Amino acid sequence: KTVLSQIEEKEDTYHCYVTVDKEGALANALAVQEEINRGLKSPLAGVPVAIKDNMCTEGLLTTCSSKILGNFIPTFSSEAVLNLQRAGAVILGKTNMDEFAMGSTTETSAFGVTKNPWNKDHVPGGSSGGSAAAVAASECFYALGSDTGGSIRQPASFCGVVGLKPTYGTVSRYGLIAYGSSLDQIGPLCKDVTDCATVMEVISSHDAKDSTSVKRNDTDFTSALKEDVKGMRIGLPKDYFGEGLDPEVKGAVLKAAKVLREKGAVVEEFDLSLVEYAIPTYYTIAAAEASSNLERFDGIKYGYRTERYEGLHNMYKKSRSEGFGPEVKRRIMLGSFVLSSGYYDAYYLKALKVKALIKKAFDEAFAKYDVILGPVAPTTAPKLGESLSDPIKMYLGDIYTISINLAGLPGLSMPCGIDSKGLPIGLQLIGDCFQEKKLIRTAYTYE
Ligand code: GLN
Repeated sequence: KTVLSQIEEKEDTYHCYVTVDKEGALANALAVQEEINRGLKSPLAGVPVAIKDNMCTEGLLTTCSSKILGNFIPTFSSEAVLNLQRAGAVILGKTNMDEFAMGSTTETSAFGVTKNPWNKDHVPGGSSGGSAAAVAASECFYALGSDTGGSIRQPASFCGVVGLKPTYGTVSRYGLIAYGSSLDQIGPLCKDVTDCATVMEVISSHDAKDSTSVKRNDTDFTSALKEDVKGMRIGLPKDYFGEGLDPEVKGAVLKAAKVLREKGAVVEEFDLSLVEYAIPTYYTIAAAEASSNLERFDGIKYGYRTERYEGLHNMYKKSRSEGFGPEVKRRIMLGSFVLSSGYYDAYYLKALKVKALIKKAFDEAFAKYDVILGPVAPTTAPKLGESLSDPIKMYLGDIYTISINLAGLPGLSMPCGIDSKGLPIGLQLIGDCFQEKKLIRTAYTYE
C-alpha cells in the first residue's frame, strides 16, 4: 500500500509505468502473505517489484512501449518473472522503455516520456528508463530491466541506482521480447548492491526453453557481499578516459578507483584496443538481429492491425508503417540493408569478425585483471528532447557499455558522485564471463 501511494503521488510527474496493476498487486500481496504464513521463506517474499514492459506477464498488458503491441496481453509469463513470483515477489506493473528497447533515453516510447527523478527536465536514460526512474523515485523497491547494449547500466547510472547486466545466458530470455538475441540479457535495477545480489540469486536459472541458457552452480551471489578487495587487480582502460568523456564524470570515476586502491586493490591503467570499433560493430549486429526479430509483427499474429487495407501485402505494410515508431524503422532498414545479399559480407560478416576481436581483447585483459573499471556513459543525463534529433550522437553515448554485450560479459553500474548540475554519476565495473561475484564484492566494498 505504501508503494502504491508513492505511485499515486509521483506517477503523474515522472511517468515510470506503462501499466500499474493496482488491484492485481494488492490481491497478490494478500496471497503471498498466506504463503508466508504457510512457511514460504524468501528474501523477496511480499516485496513489490516493477517489470520492464518487454517481459511477458500472463494476463497483463505487455507493450514494449510500441503501438504495434499496444493491445498485447500475453498468455504466459517470462521465466525471469516466474522465478520472482515463485519467490513471492509482488508485481506492481510494467515500466516504460524505449520502443523495443531501441534507444538511450526512454523518449522513443510510444506512450510518452519518463522523467528523471533527480531533475524532471532530464531523461532517465534508456532503454530501461522507467525501471531506473521507478527505483529512484521509490515507486517500487526494485525492478527488472534488459540490457542489449547498456540499457540496464546506463539508466541506472543516470538515476543514481545500482544495475547489473549478468553474463549472457545467466538469466533466461524466455518470454523476453527479443531485440538483439545474441546480446539481450535481463538483470536487476536496485537501490543498493545487497538488493542487486539478492535479486540476481532469484532470477538466475537454467532454462531448457532458452537454448542459450547456461547451467551454473555458482549463482549464490549474496555470498560475495564482503568488504574486501585486498590484492584484487583492477584495470582502467586508457581508451575509456580519453576524448569525449565529461571531465566531471572522469573525475568522479577516477576518485572511485582511488578509493578502491586505498582499500587494498591493485589499480593500474592498460590499453584496451578496438574501443573505437565498438559502436559500428554493435549497431550493425543489433540492427541485423532486430530486423529479423521484428519480422513477426505483421498485423496477423500479434497486436496492432491497420483499419483499412487492400489485400495482404498492403495490410502488412500499413500495419507496420503505423505500428512502429521512427527509431525502430531506422533499425529495421539498417538491419535489412546489412543482411542483404551483396552487403552481408561487407557489413554483417565483418562486424561478426570484429566482435570476435573485441572478445579476444577482453580475454587478454582478464588474464591480467579481476575487474575492469570505467565510466558508464560519457556524460550525465541529458535534457529531455536533446537526443532525439541526432541519433548518431545518441549512439555515440553507448561507447562504454556496448562492447560488454558484444563479448557477453557481466557489467555493474553504481553511483559514484553527483555533478555540478546535481545529477548522479555512474561507475562501471566489468568482469570476465561468470565473474559477477567479483563485481559484487568490489561494488559492495566501494559502496
Ligand atoms: N542504446 C542502445 C541501443 O539503442 C542499447 C539499448 C539496449 O541495451 N537495449 O541499441
